[in-house]
Amino acid sequence: MNYEGQICRPPMERASYMLPVAVGCSYNACTFCTLFKHLQYRQLPKEQIEQEMIRVRDAGGNPKTIFLGDGNAFGLDTQHLLWILERIHHYFPGCEAVNMDATVTNISQKSDEELKTLYDAGVRNLYLGIESGLDDVLAFMKKDHDLQQAYTQIARIQKVGMIFNAHMMTGIAGKGRGLENAQATAEFFNRTKPHKVINFSVFHHKRAPLFRDIEAGRYEAADEQENLHEERRFMELIEVPGMVYDAFHDTLELRFRGTFPQDREKMLAQVDKAIAHWDQQPSELHFFR
Ligand code: SF4
Repeated sequence: MNYEGQICRPPMERASYMLPVAVGCSYNACTFCTLFKHLQYRQLPKEQIEQEMIRVRDAGGNPKTIFLGDGNAFGLDTQHLLWILERIHHYFPGCEAVNMDATVTNISQKSDEELKTLYDAGVRNLYLGIESGLDDVLAFMKKDHDLQQAYTQIARIQKVGMIFNAHMMTGIAGKGRGLENAQATAEFFNRTKPHKVINFSVFHHKRAPLFRDIEAGRYEAADEQENLHEERRFMELIEVPGMVYDAFHDTLELRFRGTFPQDREKMLAQVDKAIAHWDQQPSELHFFR
């Protein structure tokens, strides 16, 4: 199958079979995001989705976990999702979990009964772009949720048995606000208890709408040194037993991975080593083209 867009899925899903069911993101408004801005969102036709399943089944595939792409597959109409889930179990009897990205709004648009039906049909892990624990930052970045909405909708999916996982971005609050954001984001996760958290420490792209805010002086970006200090504070404060954490700092080629609380000290030592090195270097702030 030809894949349109940039492949972007949580690292914990690398062993899953990625089944595209849509192109792009139906929301597509977050100002830092460039993943799908060049694409017109559309659902893929049923025939195309089923042909892809047949191709993989005929090649001997019977995956245990399947990740539905792209940007927010959980936003698909419930009946359409149920059709996809039914076909998945038809072609792949070994499938134990169907996972995907979701927005808070996607969840709010489904009734409790729909959520339960989707769980019963195999939906397990949802990955939500939480990004920050600060409401003003979420509003500035044009996320489609505020914190109260996120608390409400996460509780709804957890009630039916689905697993809440999150994306976050150190640095998203901008220059001088890293420690404040670390505290607020840790507090949010300590209450909502995600199973997995992926930290794509913010990187700035000249094609992102956020870059216009930077040029106009409405937003000042934090440098990577500040992001490391923010991450260290976040690691200190997180109190979610069993939370799997995977963090990227692409411009510094750093990655921190582990499970809380048992890997906390190991990860803190890694961050401290990085801070000791990078704090001696000139401010590290990249803008990708
Ligand atoms: S919801 Fe996710 S994929 Fe869609 S615009 Fe926002 S960050 Fe990008």
